[in-house]
Amino acid sequence: MRYRWPAGKQSAVVLSFDFDAESGFLFREPEKAKRSLGDLEERRFGPRVGVDRILRLLDRLKLRASFYIPGWTVEHHLAPSKRIRDAGHEVGAHGNVHEAVGFLDAAQEEAIMQQQLAILRDHLGVTPAGYRSPSWDVNVWTPGILKRHGFLYDTSLMGNDIPYEIESEDGPLVEVPVQWLLDDAPLFRHVYGSTNAIADPGRVLQMWSKEFAGMHAENGCFVLTCHPFVSGRASRIDLLEDLVAYMHRSRGVWFTTCEEIARWHAGGDRAAPEGGLTRQPKSGRIAARRKRVRPRGAR
Ligand SMILES: [Zn+2]
Repeated sequence: MRYRWPAGKQSAVVLSFDFDAESGFLFREPEKAKRSLGDLEERRFGPRVGVDRILRLLDRLKLRASFYIPGWTVEHHLAPSKRIRDAGHEVGAHGNVHEAVGFLDAAQEEAIMQQQLAILRDHLGVTPAGYRSPSWDVNVWTPGILKRHGFLYDTSLMGNDIPYEIESEDGPLVEVPVQWLLDDAPLFRHVYGSTNAIADPGRVLQMWSKEFAGMHAENGCFVLTCHPFVSGRASRIDLLEDLVAYMHRSRGVWFTTCEEIARWHAGGDRAAPEGGLTRQPKSGRIAARRKRVRPRGAR
């Protein structure tokens, strides 16, 4: 066993949702955003339809999820943002206008951090434990900014598939890792003129199921990242429901939030030396079985 999860669980699963709405488009293409109703409406599907469809799904599945919401989205789509909070889901930070921080210097990033935290606090009463950087873009100084603002964890990096720590000048920051394979956007987003075709939900269910099975065997941390304007579409909601049903067929899955994983990781008591935990219980079970077999054989 590579990692010790609470209550003897074998792996962890988080359904996470980045509620971007129009924010990423506004940051990346501000001129086009002044005129392209088509692009804006594609993204408004999230707050108008997708979020509530996802909330209904999570309610049916009785799962808490992690939502990362840019400040701009909170200000402009306050009602669905409040519904997310009021349904008891985790709300984390996700930039102000979904700024890809690779375009920012440390001072700009610091100012944007202050803005997004003020919006989450003033509009939702939320002090987030977690941060997911827009587009998973992270500067070397970002973990230090997060530490100084009291964040418990980041969930934007791909350096492991179990929780780990990122060093910063202000101490280590817990990382709850992500990966491109478990992001809905590269699979389902149609970008006009690009070569990627829209994926068949059946194929994606197979991909994600296989990745889950592998991660479960590896004691991994399966963090799925979806977007309400992408995965809020009807057949993709069905896909998520089918995926969770598939996961429920495995024993020892901890369905949780990124915050709970980060709190578990930060709490210590989960050190598992490579191979050590697997060998001990296995040899214990074998010894017990032998004891039962021997008397029978003797008879
Ligand atoms: Zn985003």
